[in-house]
Amino acid sequence: MPLAEEHFFNLAAKSKSEGETMKFDEFLASEVNALKEKKLNWKLRELQGPSLPRSKVDGKEVLMLCSNNYLGLSNHPALKEAAIRAVQTHGAGSGSVRAIAGTQDLHFKLERTIARFKHTQAALYFQTGFAANQGSIPCLSGEGDLLVSDELNHGSIIDGVRLSKAERAIYKHCDMQDLERVLREAKAKNYRHIFVITDGVFSMDGDIAPLDQIEKIAHDYGAVVYVDDAHGDGVLGEHGRGIVSHFRLEGKIEIEMGTFSKAFGVVGGYVAGSQALYDYLQNKARSFLLSGSAPPATVAACTAALELLEKDDSLVKKLWENTRYYKSQLVSMGFDIGSSQTPITPIMLGESKLAQDFAEELFKEGVFALPIVYPMVAQGKARIRTMVTAAHTREDLDFALAAIERVGKRLGVGKK
Ligand code: PMP
Repeated sequence: MPLAEEHFFNLAAKSKSEGETMKFDEFLASEVNALKEKKLNWKLRELQGPSLPRSKVDGKEVLMLCSNNYLGLSNHPALKEAAIRAVQTHGAGSGSVRAIAGTQDLHFKLERTIARFKHTQAALYFQTGFAANQGSIPCLSGEGDLLVSDELNHGSIIDGVRLSKAERAIYKHCDMQDLERVLREAKAKNYRHIFVITDGVFSMDGDIAPLDQIEKIAHDYGAVVYVDDAHGDGVLGEHGRGIVSHFRLEGKIEIEMGTFSKAFGVVGGYVAGSQALYDYLQNKARSFLLSGSAPPATVAACTAALELLEKDDSLVKKLWENTRYYKSQLVSMGFDIGSSQTPITPIMLGESKLAQDFAEELFKEGVFALPIVYPMVAQGKARIRTMVTAAHTREDLDFALAAIERVGKRLGVGKK
């Protein structure tokens, strides 16, 4: 999500006011209070056990409707067994950063598996997707380059772009004319490299970037394409191979980045592409080089997730069957699900207060879904973000739909 600056800063008084110096903790508390007053603070809900369609959250049995566990893999026996086995054979930790003594055979096996799954020459595994974006973007680009980014790209891309010495330009969300305008203007400036960077699936709206058009336009202007497949992996394409497979663009996209924290059910990030890309990042990406490597259990569970999907795509099919059913029911109940094309299903509500009240009421009804409000999304675009998974049964979805309908009636949203 592209979190706006003001979510973090400048909401309250500066730390020094006239004639007195606020103690640092008081300053911090005043910032948090300012967030609370605007109802922008995060209340961390406690998940008491595994992430399941029926989970225990803050002591209450609820239907989980906001996890990114698209395929239900986070509690899958094959992944758990792989993790336990890896602890027994390789220990609890890796002992070092990858570049020193922290590359175990398990890490190389995972990287070979990612490359095979994504149909690329090679793939480099990072500790998180955030570390993959934040580490790769500033190390691939530098002075004399231009980074061209969709206005709704994820915060980890935004931070990666900020860390780069390259110039930057933003194009309007999925607007190909605007992308072309930026690239046309850039042509005159003789940049060394131009990168077009986009989320594959946008996490707040669930719409899909037109990667086929982006590929064409970018390559017409000699630019390199970088796609973040965090919400496409395990969801789009053949056997969940992601957005490049979805658009049949194998071999045409220079840089594919993804995460294991969503459909693959574990944690970790990767950048996939050519062997030259792998060798370069492995030598230069600071988040890869200077941070301890992922522990054996995590790495082995990630490999198990990919091996499972290579063999069997039934979970991906179930995810889409559930998504079609759930979304069609919501629309027939009169709810606006925005521009979603994927299992990410926003229920558009408009005002922040309505979205917050809607989420509270849903929780009382036993359904856990998150309100997404300004500044996470534009003013007037507040919504409840609901997420369908393959693990939901028809009964689960009907339970959620009935609760949403009841809350909608109480709050005056949906069919009257
Ligand atoms: N990119 C996108 C589009 C994401 O949604 C996320 C997760 N919020 C990330 C990158 C970061 O991935 P990770 O959770 O593996 O750090």
